[in-house]
Amino acid sequence: MLKRYLLAPGPTPVPSEALLAMAMPIIHHRSPDFLPVLDAAKKGLQWLYQTKNDVLILCSTGTGGMVGAVNNFFSPGDKVITINGGKFGERWTKICKAYGLNTDEMVVEWGYAVKSEIVEEKLKKDTSIKGIFVQASETSTGVYHDIEALARIVKKYENTILIVDAISALVAHDLKMDAWGIDIMIGGSQKGVMLPPGLAFVGISEKAWKFAERSKCPRFYFNFKKERENLAKNQTNFTSPVTLIIGLNECIKMLRKEGIENVFSRHERLADATRKAMLAIGLELFPKESPSNAVTAVCAPSGIDGQEIYKNLREKYGITAAGGQDHVKGKIFRIAHLGYADTFDVITAVAGVEMVLRGMGHPVKLGSGVAVAEELLLK
Ligand SMILES: *Cc1c(COP(=O)(O)O)cnc(C)c1O
Repeated sequence: MLKRYLLAPGPTPVPSEALLAMAMPIIHHRSPDFLPVLDAAKKGLQWLYQTKNDVLILCSTGTGGMVGAVNNFFSPGDKVITINGGKFGERWTKICKAYGLNTDEMVVEWGYAVKSEIVEEKLKKDTSIKGIFVQASETSTGVYHDIEALARIVKKYENTILIVDAISALVAHDLKMDAWGIDIMIGGSQKGVMLPPGLAFVGISEKAWKFAERSKCPRFYFNFKKERENLAKNQTNFTSPVTLIIGLNECIKMLRKEGIENVFSRHERLADATRKAMLAIGLELFPKESPSNAVTAVCAPSGIDGQEIYKNLREKYGITAAGGQDHVKGKIFRIAHLGYADTFDVITAVAGVEMVLRGMGHPVKLGSGVAVAEELLLK
């Protein structure tokens, strides 16, 4: 037997409370049974997003939310900046280009965070820039971009909105949508929210809704204006993913019980212990600055293939982490501490890495990383 441990940056483990709630018979999405369910989800997401604005619930993966954030607020030819510091930043560029936006891609070296001063310079020079697209946590590199700093800048420009892909950052990082002035913030169900894949969430500011009125991109499935009208009636435009929304309410109930500050500090503690344990093993972290609290990207030691570390973790010890993507494939591996994660997820991951590296012939003092993680996570 090989017991399975899911420590990937999405999908993440789903707590039994949610699994059991989702095992109940399906209710009809246009019946009175469903109205309080969606009402609770709506309010729960506003709590999680720290916003008074609407948070739309879409039946799609996170990328659907990203697509909708482009084609509901912009028009072909609109000037926008995409911040590409990894695989998901690159996705912003691809989506914006697919809809014919005049896309200025700001490439950030993998492992680094965007310098908000450069964004500010660009905006100062050209006030016709309508949108700044960024990730909060760039999952491919394990870097967190300073959203508060970017929001402070973009807020000053009436003609510009800030669109944040918070799909992996939501729950792991404190993102104050209203207080900071984030205009559009996207989340996904299979990351920090602890659900199976299938839902995207999109929080939208009043400033962004004004952009929606002028937008001329083609759209049909992701029609945010219609979703907003439906949400006001505790409905969704098309058939609601009722099962996932029932699960969402369970997960939000758990997060509320823990308290939002404790949720963030738990992620910070787990991330910190993971990083320091990796350093204690003698490994280097991939991010050169501003590491994410959702996922830790670790450099494979020289002469050892990062994909083999991933493969060994999975095949020998049942631990599904993640490898690297694109040009860092083989050079890094990634461990998530996101959502339904606690002390022994980190201990498991650290022990697994030590044992795999030893098994691959790399000199590792067994327990060196685990000891550090235990010290840091001791209560
Ligand atoms: C997971 C993820 C996505 C969305 O991926 P989907 O497969 O569409 O759910 C987007 N951005 C980031 C930063 C992610 O981590």
